[in-house]
Amino acid sequence: MREAILLTPGPLTTSLATKTAMLTDWGSWDSAFNALTAGVCNDLVNIVHGGETHVCVPLQGSGTFAVEATIGTLVPKDGKLLVLVNGAYGRRMAQLTRVIGRQVEVYETADDQPADPAEIAARLAADPAITHVGAIHCETSTGILNPLAAIADVVERAGRRLIIDAMSAFGALPVDARELRFDALIATSNKCLEGVPGVGFVIARREALLAASGNSHSLALDLVDQYLYLQKTGQWRFTPPTHVVAALASALEQYRLEGGQPARLGRYAANCRQLVSGLARLGLRPLLEPSLQAPIIVTVHAPNHPDYEFKRFYEAVRARGFVLYPGKLTEVETFRVGCIGAIDSAEIGQAVAAIADALAELGWIH
Ligand SMILES: *Cc1c(COP(=O)(O)O)cnc(C)c1O
Repeated sequence: MREAILLTPGPLTTSLATKTAMLTDWGSWDSAFNALTAGVCNDLVNIVHGGETHVCVPLQGSGTFAVEATIGTLVPKDGKLLVLVNGAYGRRMAQLTRVIGRQVEVYETADDQPADPAEIAARLAADPAITHVGAIHCETSTGILNPLAAIADVVERAGRRLIIDAMSAFGALPVDARELRFDALIATSNKCLEGVPGVGFVIARREALLAASGNSHSLALDLVDQYLYLQKTGQWRFTPPTHVVAALASALEQYRLEGGQPARLGRYAANCRQLVSGLARLGLRPLLEPSLQAPIIVTVHAPNHPDYEFKRFYEAVRARGFVLYPGKLTEVETFRVGCIGAIDSAEIGQAVAAIADALAELGWIH
């Protein structure tokens, strides 16, 4: 039997080429590995057209490490971050900011409601201590698409700096650094780029990054140090995740051959449409209305049956070769299905069939 297909938004299903790229051992001092790192960083900046203004700083670890590094580096010790929260990742950004001792204000909206740009403007006008705004592009806890362009616009007009957690959107949803003003955009290898987990990266405005020297509370998470060392030596400051970087280089080459961001978005959007219509035929409804749904991950209302239990559902679908994701909402019972990864209409069709079959076996649909 083939390996299970991960319908989870990272780690996700990767291609055979990406997996086989990890079969080589690289020395961290070797010039071939340094060239690999430089090539990856260059490709990542170009995905958001940031070559004129921005640089890429890679960082060992999962995405949260890169978020913590970015806020600790860019927000000065006497700075203050306004975080726009409509889900778990926004809450995490606020929490880690508090933990590292920076001032935070939270503007929270419901899970199915994006922040209102007028309210952001009002809060920025009311509190001159706020230096930075933190926003989540696609809030993966529901799959909601936040209005990044409108947010960037109010932040710029208020003369503040924007930090974007674009973890689950980068590479699929378009962002153009020449039009949308941000100081940092944070993402990771193992989501829409379809690499494996282990490295995060920050696309940082060069001038803002260099001005942030000395801000960081942490040695390992200091992005200025990481950047300057990489510039000077071509090497990572501490042991790099060599195989992860090699897999990402391969994944980026496949991304380019597929047709880059528009093609990646096109495939995910088709996956999402097919998934939503397939689930609708089973009587399963998505949480979000279509205009708010990013084609990344779909939150679905659980089957309306008194015996419903996610764990049993998960196991029944898992036995058929597909891995679902639990819901992250407290008020309504939901589960989540990812649209991203090295999958297309064949796997989505099979996944819907597996879900139908599992529900029939459990007696939760007729
Ligand atoms: C995946 C993700 C993260 C990072 O999560 P890790 O588990 O640390 O990789 C952060 N923000 C968003 C929106 C995400 O989807």
